[in-house]
Formats: sequence, structure tokens, C-alpha cells
Amino acid sequence: MSQSTNPNRDKIAQLIASKKKHLKQLTADVLFEQIIGGSIQALSETITLLESKNNSDYLKAQDIIKKVIPYASKSIRIGITGVPGVGKSTFIESFGNFLTEKGHKVAVLAIDPSSEKSRGSILGDKTRMANLAANPNAYIRPTASSGSLGGVAQKTRESVLLCEAAGFDVILIETVGVGQSEIAVHSMTDFFLLLMLAGAGDELQGIKRGIMEMADSILISKADGENVKYANIARLDYKNALHLFPANANNWIPKVETLSSLENHGVEKIWNIITDFKQMTTENRHFDYKRNEQQKFWMNESLKERILTDFYSNANYIKHKQNIESQLDKGEITSFQAAELLYNITYKK
Ligand code: GDP
Repeated sequence: MSQSTNPNRDKIAQLIASKKKHLKQLTADVLFEQIIGGSIQALSETITLLESKNNSDYLKAQDIIKKVIPYASKSIRIGITGVPGVGKSTFIESFGNFLTEKGHKVAVLAIDPSSEKSRGSILGDKTRMANLAANPNAYIRPTASSGSLGGVAQKTRESVLLCEAAGFDVILIETVGVGQSEIAVHSMTDFFLLLMLAGAGDELQGIKRGIMEMADSILISKADGENVKYANIARLDYKNALHLFPANANNWIPKVETLSSLENHGVEKIWNIITDFKQMTTENRHFDYKRNEQQKFWMNESLKERILTDFYSNANYIKHKQNIESQLDKGEITSFQAAELLYNITYKK
């Protein structure tokens, strides 16, 4: 039966459309009230406004974000990374369901720099976590994939605040184990979790050392069936490897565990690790210190983005760029001289 000849489906589509229209007409004040009242529709609508290319939508979202700040922060923000196929979404599903059973409210966000290209490996839709998506105490927001990493990261950070204001006390931010996105996610979370596969002999090859150094815990995934023994070997290898890294300023020693999301093994253990981490870093004040440092980091990132946009849209820069590039092509000046010239011309120095 085609869509237009199915009266039920038409009715549902009409209902959804009228609800969306109704939400769009709500003022920033009303959306704010609804968000702090726990409305997922108002939360979703505000994140949509935040991601909108329409400036007045964006400004409305900013207005709401300003209002929610005092209500946001009572949460634990957890970053989750690992190469595609390592088992992130399966883990998030069992971890998310485990947490909601313990009375938590769980929001899942993602930063996926690859989704703009053809790889699309994260949260393209909710079918990856269908079970968790249907859980009334969980909220899954597919990745905002357009724009620069800095822009996407800013929106994700602001979405975190909105989710917290709506009562979500565990925020999971997923990313893939490639590129700069780990640094972005690490810089907006309290605890950083790396999922790794047990390989035969090449356990330390899969992921860059820098990402391992950022991890507060490494989980060796798919530790079930035949794979258990390889997972245990990998666990010891990573444990030994982590000893070689410099100690963390917060005194935390990263923990390495095995995990089977399918058999629900390790899921409770990782929550205990995160709880211990929160307790320890709260006591030694590193929890708040890190959040404050992160705020300053993102302030500087926003400033950099603003300065770059300002520079590249400056009329002087646009007018002289080609000429200076052609001098560079002819070997008349060096790259550094070209940059100096362009900078001085742009700002008329
Ligand atoms: P992601 O790309 O990192 O999100 O990985 P997925 O969660 O989509 O998992 C990739 C594949 O690994 C799927 O076929 C899963 O069924 C499988 N998988 C995930 N977790 C486990 C696990 O704990 N044990 C086993 N045996 N397979 C798993």
C-alpha cells in the first residue's frame, strides 16, 4: 500500500507535523521551562535549533542555553572511542540499559568526522541501538555531521548542557578511533573510555599511542567464547603498556578490563571503575579543575575559529591572496614571507 493511500499513516504524519509546528512556535522561555521539566521533545527541538543554519533559530537556541547553564553539570560525561566494529554501539546499548535499570537517565551523543564522507560509521540512525532508543530513560541523538570539527564539537558541548538540564545524569559521547575527534571528545568529557579488540600478536598496533594515553580505562571488547583467552592476553599487554606512560596529574591509574557486551560481562565493572574515578577526582578536586580547564579550552577554540573566519572573509585578504600565491608559485618569496605579507596587507600594517 502506498503512503498516500494509508489513512492511518497519513493521520500519524499529520499529527507529527502539527506537533513539530507547535514546538517551533514555542518561545525560548517556554522551551526552557519544558526542558528543565524533562521534556524530550523540547530538548530535541532545541538541539535542532542549535544545529540549524538559520541564524534566528541558532540565536533562540543560544538564549535557551544561557538559561539552562545553572541547571546543567550534575552529571558524569563519558567519552567512548574505538575503531569501527570494535563494539561501541553494542556496549552503549547494554551499558545504557544497565544504567537506566539502576535509576539513571542516559543521553547518547556522537561526534563523527567520517560521516560526511562515505564511511558513516556512527549513529546514522537509531536502528543501531534500537533497544536503548525505545527506553524511556534514554535519549539518543544522532550525530550532527555538517560543519568543521570545531563547529560540530561546540554544538555537541552545548547539547550536553541541554541534556543535563533535562535531567540526564550520565552523558555518553561516542566517536570513532580516527582523526582529531578523540581530542575533541576527550576535551568535553570527565572520563575517557577506549574500546580495543584483542588481536593475535599485534595488540598494540590498532590505535595511536596518543589516544591510549588519553584513556582513563581500556576495555578489551568481545571477550566471550573462543576470544576469552586472547582478550585476557591483550588485557595484560595493555596493562603493561600503560605503565610506561607518564603518571596522570589527577593520580588516577588507568584500568584495563575485558568486556563482553553480548554476555553482559564487564558492564557493571566499568560502572564501578567510573564511580571510583568520580569519587577520587572529586576528593582531590581534579574533577572540577578539569571541567574548568575544558571551559577555557573551548573558549580559546571558539576564539580561534572566530579569528580565522574573520581573517579569511576580510576583503583585503580576498583581494590580494591570488597575487601573493602567484609570487609564491614563481619562487619569488618563501611561504613564511607570503604569510607575513598577507597578514600585513589584510590588517593594513
Ligand atoms: P561499533 O562499530 O564499534 O559500534 O561496533 P558494533 O557495536 O556495531 O559491533 C560490531 C560487531 O561486533 C557486531 O556484529 C556486533 O554484534 C559484534 N559485537 C559487539 N559486541 C560484541 C561482544 O561483546 N561479543 C561478540 N562476540 N560480538 C560483539
